[in-house]
Amino acid sequence: MRWSQYFIPTLREDPADAEVVSHRLLLRAGVVRQLSAGIYSYLPLGQRIALKVMQILREEMNRIGGQEFYLPALHPAEIWQESGRWSAIGDDMFRLKDRKGADMCLGMTHEEVFTSIARNEIRSYKQLPQVWYQIQIKFRDEPRPKSGLMRLRTFIMKDAYTFDVDREGLDRSFIDQREAYKRIFTRCGIQFSIVEASSGSMGGSESSEFVAKTPAGEDLIASCSNCGYAANVEKATSRLPAIEDEAGPNAPEEFPTPGVRTIEDLTTFSGGAAADRQIKSLVYFATLDGEARPVLVLLRGDHQLHEVKFTDAVGATAVRPAHPEEIRDLMGAAAGSLGGVRAKEIARRANKNLFIIADYGLKGRRNMTTGANKDDHHIRGVNIERDIEVDQWADLRTVTSGEACPRCDSGVLEVYKAMEVGHIFKLGTKYSESMGATVLTKDGKEVPIIMGSYGIGVERIISAAVEQNHDDDGIIWPKSIAPFDVVVTVTNIKDERLREAGNKLYRDLQQAGLEILLDDRDERAGVKFKDADLVGIPYRVTIGKKISDGVVELFDRQAKQSEDVKLTEIVSRVQKLCSLAAHN
Ligand code: ATP
Ligand code: MG
Repeated sequence: MRWSQYFIPTLREDPADAEVVSHRLLLRAGVVRQLSAGIYSYLPLGQRIALKVMQILREEMNRIGGQEFYLPALHPAEIWQESGRWSAIGDDMFRLKDRKGADMCLGMTHEEVFTSIARNEIRSYKQLPQVWYQIQIKFRDEPRPKSGLMRLRTFIMKDAYTFDVDREGLDRSFIDQREAYKRIFTRCGIQFSIVEASSGSMGGSESSEFVAKTPAGEDLIASCSNCGYAANVEKATSRLPAIEDEAGPNAPEEFPTPGVRTIEDLTTFSGGAAADRQIKSLVYFATLDGEARPVLVLLRGDHQLHEVKFTDAVGATAVRPAHPEEIRDLMGAAAGSLGGVRAKEIARRANKNLFIIADYGLKGRRNMTTGANKDDHHIRGVNIERDIEVDQWADLRTVTSGEACPRCDSGVLEVYKAMEVGHIFKLGTKYSESMGATVLTKDGKEVPIIMGSYGIGVERIISAAVEQNHDDDGIIWPKSIAPFDVVVTVTNIKDERLREAGNKLYRDLQQAGLEILLDDRDERAGVKFKDADLVGIPYRVTIGKKISDGVVELFDRQAKQSEDVKLTEIVSRVQKLCSLAAHN
């Protein structure tokens, strides 16, 4: 391609509304343009990058026996009603009606469509296992589309689905996918970790997330440098030091606490208690079977609730904190004076059935202090198992840096920001049972197919690659997904000799099988160098005055080093560098 005719609208200045690095650089380098919130167009450079990523995805899926499909993005409501997700998924789903008034949606993911194919076509264990995948557009009406390509409302996903006759088969398919994912991210130049994660609305037993560490990430990962334990904080736990409580009184005692509204207030109040000797009480509404039910959530005073853990623990489709008026109606007190003692009884007076869930960190604790469900009053001497009717114990608290690793003896957890780039799930029979996808086993028994589902976002790979590979001058594309291998920069296009040499080298490098961008623009050399650095092509060959000595300059974008190379040797030299990269 000749830069003079190729469409690369680079920007000198940082776009005002772009906060994260990848967003800023992808706009500035002329890779993408925004159409609307969470909706972007790939410009020619972007399309080249995306195609490279997709090629790597294809090669690695095909290597493990994946068969490529292409499914519709427009789905009838029926299949989503059959799986139960038509109602389980909220506003994230784009829904519409066709001209006859039938409900339709735009696919957020394709478990339902793949399962509907499997149930119609697969009858016998002899046809299994199957590994199916596609690279296709997805639609999700994300509540907060932001950060450039990281959270989009329409994006490209490689999604794969495996179908096995038994659990052992699923285990093998899952490992195959995990190994393929490792190769994919490695080939794309992304540093990643594999972490335990919540399965959320996908269902199923086990799931692993592939995450790329970056300050732009929206996920928090807790990991142990000692034993390698790593989990999304949605799921991560830690080991708490044991606490010995004094026995306390035989029954809880109420006491006045004028003006005390928070855990912190009570730590400094005379007759109060340290935060780890308080019970934090939060009123939530959890949506179960379409109905919002009140739940009292109890945690140690110095611990923070993790809403995803809570959602998973109660099996809700959504949770939200209760509003102040709702809290008063239910408990007869303000948020700062709530507690678990007699809470069910109090809620019953408001004709409400209150469910109480408590964090494991409170198990066995005695002589604790909490709100009295009466404004400006608290209760001390609370022995949790004696005084509070807990319906469910669960892991609800958010782990923080510095806590002890739950898996090894001496490790300490570090919590860092990361971006999810891939997610693999053991679905089990959630979809095959609800949608009736069964096969006959060897013994002639009819069993639901055991499924797995595996997704990678193309735009997340592109964003992560930029987040992890850039400097002050611009993007440094990993060689495997760079839009071009080399840019040949002619310093002065008006100089006939330089122009001719540029044209010839352009042809020679192309003939050597490389993808070349020839910068033949009528611009100052400085402008061209700046643009090349911003766009991030791995190598630049500069044709300047030294051509009269038969010498050109080879610049390595990543090392930021240049050296003089004889014109007669440059093709083989560059070819070698690029083929080395291809084997990485
Ligand atoms: P997140 O927790 O970030 O919303 P998710 O768990 O909803 O992700 P999955 O449903 O597992 O994601 O989708 C598989 C992959 O698709 C993700 O690992 C990610 O790479 C990509 N992906 C998901 N949502 C988006 C989005 N809104 N924009 C771009 N890529 C996305
Ligand atoms: Mg999501």
